[in-house]
Amino acid sequence: MLRVTCPTCGTRPYEEFRYGSLFPVTPDSITDPDARQVDHAWMQDNVAGPITERWFHEAGCRRWFTAVRDTRTDAWSQPD
Ligand SMILES: [Zn+2]
Repeated sequence: MLRVTCPTCGTRPYEEFRYGSLFPVTPDSITDPDARQVDHAWMQDNVAGPITERWFHEAGCRRWFTAVRDTRTDAWSQPD
């Protein structure tokens, strides 16, 4: 079973969480508002390795947090 570590509640079952987005969401080099929305919605890199994401602990403390997840192993850690 996949487990996620919330900085407030500790390690909990994956089903308690809701995925937010990659973080940072859109590069600062894209300044046009329409282009930023397209980049956010459709231009994912599909990285094999550590990525930084935003998650929401929906069935727990109901707080957003940033986590680093290795897409190859689903190992979680907190960003530096
Ligand atoms: Zn929590």
